Amino acid sequence: MPRVAVIGAGAAGAMLARSLQQRGLAVEVFDKARGPGGRMATRRQGAYAFDHGAQYFTLRDPRLTRLSDDWVKAGVIAPWQPSEASMEAPRWVAVPGMNALARHLLSEVTVHWRAAITALERDDGGWRLHGDQGVLGEGFDQVALALPAPQARSLLAGLGGWDQRLAEVIMAPCWAVMLADFVEPPPPGPPGGARLDDPLLAWVAHDASKPGRVAASDTWVLHASEPFSRGELEQPGEEVAERLWQRFAALQGLAMTPPGHLVAHRWRYARVTEPLGEACLWSAELGIGACGDWCLGARVEAALLSGLALADVL
Ligand SMILES: Cc1cc2nc3c(=O)[nH]c(=O)nc-3n(C[C@H](O)[C@H](O)[C@H](O)COP(=O)(O)OP(=O)(O)OC[C@H]3O[C@@H](n4cnc5c(N)ncnc54)[C@H](O)[C@@H]3O)c2cc1C
Repeated sequence: MPRVAVIGAGAAGAMLARSLQQRGLAVEVFDKARGPGGRMATRRQGAYAFDHGAQYFTLRDPRLTRLSDDWVKAGVIAPWQPSEASMEAPRWVAVPGMNALARHLLSEVTVHWRAAITALERDDGGWRLHGDQGVLGEGFDQVALALPAPQARSLLAGLGGWDQRLAEVIMAPCWAVMLADFVEPPPPGPPGGARLDDPLLAWVAHDASKPGRVAASDTWVLHASEPFSRGELEQPGEEVAERLWQRFAALQGLAMTPPGHLVAHRWRYARVTEPLGEACLWSAELGIGACGDWCLGARVEAALLSGLALADVL
């Protein structure tokens, strides 16, 4: 039975790993984080939980709509109507937090957490995965990278001959701010989430309005605009959090006293703006490939489809 290492437990890696396991391959997943989801993230802090990455997703492709019936029945996803936007396709969220979908997909897969892969090596015994402290896995027939394009490019270090193509994939950053414990809570809506045409803020969401969240926690998430995120990317998180909170409070007409919980998160590779234009990369000769949202577009659905595409060629 071929042994496959999947590096990355976000939407693409989780979909890929589940699909390979179901086809009878021996799969092990490695992720540098402590839990699943990647940019489909849920940050738990004390009594609060925030979806500070992806906010919701669509599932339009027939391969995914078939799977989504099972996910709904299992209580892993639920519909959410974030704004006055048209209802041409349902918007889904994972329950009780966005990372629940990757957790579900990986429920029967062996995963190594806190396993940051820093180098790849191949010899007669197959692929060996190195971390900072030594070898984290070896003897793999195939390796699949399910990482943002710049991170995949650096790990591949020229392997596969894809360096130029990966360099041409552009990913934009995004500052996210998590708010809770308000002196004066913002009015909850509707809408529970809205895109803004503002120089600083691109999106605000009343996180607690999503289905299956902890009703008592009045949690909000702000996403900065792309120009702000690019311009302020290297600024300290505390300063960014304060500026974005002030902007939000001004827009909502709130008192300027900051909430008790005010934390920023820097997404260095948040959204692909120039995708690869191909569902995945694969070299049969080397037994190595790559997938992720950056292959097809800046969406969870693109990540899931890219993972499925790599599973098919593998
Ligand atoms: C702020 C923000 C808002 C968004 N909003 C939406 C939205 O509303 N709707 C939507 O559809 N999409 C949205 N997206 C995009 C969506 O989150 C992504 O398209 C999707 O989650 C990408 O999944 P992925 O598996 O390709 O990559 P990732 O989720 O980035 O997964 C990569 C994984 O690799 C791991 N990793 C990285 N380097 C290493 C290493 N060296 N060794 C081991 N592990 C490593 C990471 O820890 C991570 O778990 C948003 C993204 C962000 C950041």
